[in-house]
Amino acid sequence: MQGQRSLLLGPARLCLRLLLLLGSRRRCPPLLRGLVQRWRYGKVCLRSLLYNSFGGSDTAVDAAFEPIYWLVDNVIRWCGVAITTPPGYPPQGRNDIATVSICKKCIYPKPARTHHCSVCNRCVLKMDHHCPTAWLNNCVGHYNHRYFFSFCFFMTLGCVYCSYGSWDLFREAYAAIEKMKQLDKNKLQAVANQTYHQTPPPTFSFRERMTHKSLVYLWFLCSSVALALGALTVWHAVLISRGETSIERHINKKEKRRLQAKGRIFRNHYNYGCLNNWKLFLGVDTGRHWLTRVLLPSSHLPHGNGIIWDPPPWVTAQSASVMAV
Ligand SMILES: [Zn+2]
Ligand SMILES: [Zn+2]
Repeated sequence: MQGQRSLLLGPARLCLRLLLLLGSRRRCPPLLRGLVQRWRYGKVCLRSLLYNSFGGSDTAVDAAFEPIYWLVDNVIRWCGVAITTPPGYPPQGRNDIATVSICKKCIYPKPARTHHCSVCNRCVLKMDHHCPTAWLNNCVGHYNHRYFFSFCFFMTLGCVYCSYGSWDLFREAYAAIEKMKQLDKNKLQAVANQTYHQTPPPTFSFRERMTHKSLVYLWFLCSSVALALGALTVWHAVLISRGETSIERHINKKEKRRLQAKGRIFRNHYNYGCLNNWKLFLGVDTGRHWLTRVLLPSSHLPHGNGIIWDPPPWVTAQSASVMAV
């Protein structure tokens, strides 16, 4: 087998060398010369993509693993799907669905974990909250909860990355603004001490002033978003770990207090333990899904239909004894 391959590779290499040799000579046919030139150009392009002699690094590999690309990809994707995906609504006009109550506003059966949104004016499956117009302008429910959380998470990561990465730039811009202020002050004093009234030239150009101020403003904006959104993301992560939505948190808190007063213990029947709650929320059924469904932007649907809340078999098997209090 190896002998056969060397038999094939030998003539191929010889032909290529002959082609290059002919290409270097001026008398070779124009077609061959064109082919050789294209081959050499392609080789240079490939080398420039794979290795940057100025930076001394693999440019293509660096670019592929640059975190900002990954973060921006995720932020845009999750933002788009969180806005456009409906949260899920209970079927209307059907009497065969498992319901726990009747919505007083819609006058329709309401399945478990479903709540009425006063903004959308309809019931939403596993409603978490209604995201305002300035943000997603959509209700967050069963079908887009993961998209909303992923968007918040990657947006926070992106803001932290930008704030941290531009720290030196911010410090330089801030120092330049302070210098500007000092120079303006000195200039005013110098003018006040002089007997003639000639306006001295500006110490910093308008463009330089605007650049420094914009950099400082952007850094503060980015850091503020990172802090505010980070707090929101952490809060939602805590809720997901407990197997609750924002609305259920309030209901469960009240219910817990009420039962405690009677000397009884409250149990959240949708809490299967921290890890299982996350796996259920992220749609991780196998080990491979941590890569394909969590690290990569996957658009798989959540478990269940949002009407019947039976946990998947692997959850039942793993956490038959785990019941949250
Ligand atoms: Zn309703
Ligand atoms: Zn709504």
